[in-house]
Amino acid sequence: MDPVSILKKYYGYDSFRPGQRELIDAILLGRDALGIMPTGGGKSICYQIPALLLEGVTIVISPLISLMKDQVDTLKEYGISAELINSTLSTSEFKEVISRARVGEYKLLYVAPERLETESFLHLMEEVPVAMVATDEAHCISQWGHDFRPSYKRIHSMIDRLEKRPIVAAFTATATPLVKADIKELLDLYEPFEFVSSFDRPNLYFEVRKPDNKLHEIQRYLKEHSNESGVIYCATRKNVDEVCERLNKLGVSATKYHAGLNENERIHNQESFLFDQIPIMVATNAFGMGIDKPNVRFVIHYNMPKNMESYYQEAGRAGRDGEASECILLYSTQDIMTNRYLIEMGNTSGRTVEYEKLNSMVDYCNTEGCLRNFILNYFGQDALERPCEHCGNCNNDIEETDITIEAQKILSCVKRMQERFGASQVADVLKGANTQKIRSLNFHELSTYGIMRDYPKDTIKELISFLIAEGYLQLVGTQYPIVQLTEASYGILKGGKSISIKRVLVKENKKAYTAENNKVMDHILFEHLRKIRQTVAEEQRIQPFMVFADTTLKEMARFYPVTQEEMMQITGVGEYKMEKYGEIFLEIVRNYVAEYPLEVERIKLALQEERQQESFNKVQTQKSAPRDSYKRTYELYRAGRNLDEIADERDLTRMTVENHLIKCVQEGLEVNYADFIPIEYEAQIIEAIEQCGTMLLKPIKECLPEEISYTAIKFMVAKYSLNK
Ligand code: ADP
Ligand code: MG
Ligand code: ZN
Repeated sequence: MDPVSILKKYYGYDSFRPGQRELIDAILLGRDALGIMPTGGGKSICYQIPALLLEGVTIVISPLISLMKDQVDTLKEYGISAELINSTLSTSEFKEVISRARVGEYKLLYVAPERLETESFLHLMEEVPVAMVATDEAHCISQWGHDFRPSYKRIHSMIDRLEKRPIVAAFTATATPLVKADIKELLDLYEPFEFVSSFDRPNLYFEVRKPDNKLHEIQRYLKEHSNESGVIYCATRKNVDEVCERLNKLGVSATKYHAGLNENERIHNQESFLFDQIPIMVATNAFGMGIDKPNVRFVIHYNMPKNMESYYQEAGRAGRDGEASECILLYSTQDIMTNRYLIEMGNTSGRTVEYEKLNSMVDYCNTEGCLRNFILNYFGQDALERPCEHCGNCNNDIEETDITIEAQKILSCVKRMQERFGASQVADVLKGANTQKIRSLNFHELSTYGIMRDYPKDTIKELISFLIAEGYLQLVGTQYPIVQLTEASYGILKGGKSISIKRVLVKENKKAYTAENNKVMDHILFEHLRKIRQTVAEEQRIQPFMVFADTTLKEMARFYPVTQEEMMQITGVGEYKMEKYGEIFLEIVRNYVAEYPLEVERIKLALQEERQQESFNKVQTQKSAPRDSYKRTYELYRAGRNLDEIADERDLTRMTVENHLIKCVQEGLEVNYADFIPIEYEAQIIEAIEQCGTMLLKPIKECLPEEISYTAIKFMVAKYSLNK
């Protein structure tokens, strides 16, 4: 069998993602291989498909028990024989797996690198032919990777002991030159075929927000994204507890994860999230390693992380399944302080590098350019040719607020307090607080006392943080840092220099990609399908996505498959799953279609509109014409021009002009149908439409005489749909 048929048969996918085919082909030719692809890029398939086609067993080296288990469970659901050997196996299970492996029952065997060093495993390797040794998460090999484990270094000596050298392959999402060189050297890859795919993740939407109140921002966000699964990362355990508690109080179903919880709690919470019982996980960065949940629709950072590496790794946990997902960073200048503090507390060596990295992270939060390009640049990849049109900065307007007056008030207050107090006390004085401390120091007599009493204290503190971040103030001392003026302060105090703070305003006409999430589908049917998936998964004790991914359920809720053939057309429905679950899901769809024919009809029409809109949009963006370009077309049409003349005059293709007029028809504008549909054919076309439905034009065209053009059919379909 060839790789494409395997992809379809087992995984139910129609085509390979970038790099997959190349890596698979190289491995099948017997070459060593190194695949570097971002999270969610689809690395697993690159070694799983060759494993199915090669003689013998493929050993997959994986760093974490949870990852191994997910992968093996997932493979079993595809009907692929795979097993894992790790410390969770009982002695009898272990013996069972070994004896099955001995007789060549598995195509893939997952192990941790430490296992390779045990005698029992080495014996096994001497008995069964090993086709390939594939190291997943291969950055663990490198001492430069953050998760270095010494056993990784000894993989190649195990390989050397084998009688016949297997193919050696490695996969990772870490692309730095140091890590890459280490992988090649320590695994002793022999002239490997390398594929480094772009790190761009087009399905992720990036945005930095600077809200006055982060909790409110999150509440607002969650309201718009109810029912979706997401992670909220916080810098500290305390923040995690607070945010989670607050959400729960508001009736939002959320759970939490951090190193301060006991192990049982952590496991329990993690599983409720993975098994889709609780949609939202609030966590520190302790959460996520070894989590492959594919349908995480958003990752919100409550605090700015310490560097871009951490940010991209954590944010990148969104949208593994390739569906549109959002990565939102809630930035406040306070986050800079926190990170500076953490760097100060940490190891002295490497501090300079850490500060540099922190600076880049801050730059990301403050750039006005395309965020996606910023990320690509940072990781040393070629930026896109133009702004991506799919990040906060490409989609939003920046609002600039002049804060010169406020800055002057703050700076002069610091000066009057003789530069001897912390930010909070400065804020108290500006706010005009009546505290013991203020009275005892006679601060209530300062001319700056209470000059910002109209501002919330949080805002004053935020402004102070901003001035520190921008170098107009400085923090001195570590334990109880005090705020002092800098040289730059005087430029402001003396007047003449102005400063402003920038905030992002989300544009009214929201992003094109959210449209991706709002793709037409039958939400009620989707919920039915999700429910049955939940039940099936619980019965099988596997995670819901292993039964079918969200993507797959969404397609079912778009196209209403009611026959086996139709079901097999759905992405993610392979032969084995069809056999195992096909009927269960078909029955849900069939019952639904029988029960709600009107709803189904409505969705089908909406789908058709969506399709027309899409092709319309495509033409529009190609031309980068204003959105209501079709109106101009309509004016010309009303002025008596025919389609070709309009196309000429406007330098558009005839197809575009046609689509413009179709849109006009849909919007209820008058057109003379006789201009496009030859009267003598009208009845015939209607008959064909009634026979074939309005979803696709091609079948309609095929049951009509040749001379009837697509144009005629298109207009007839539009007219027909309108009159329905
Ligand atoms: P990685 O290991 O690179 O992070 P995975 O191998 O876990 O990524 O794949 C991420 C998701 O993409 C999985 O749900 C997988 O089934 C899906 N996927 C992989 N290849 C394809 C493909 N060719 N078509 C559709 N989905 C794919
Ligand atoms: Mg992976
Ligand atoms: Zn952009």
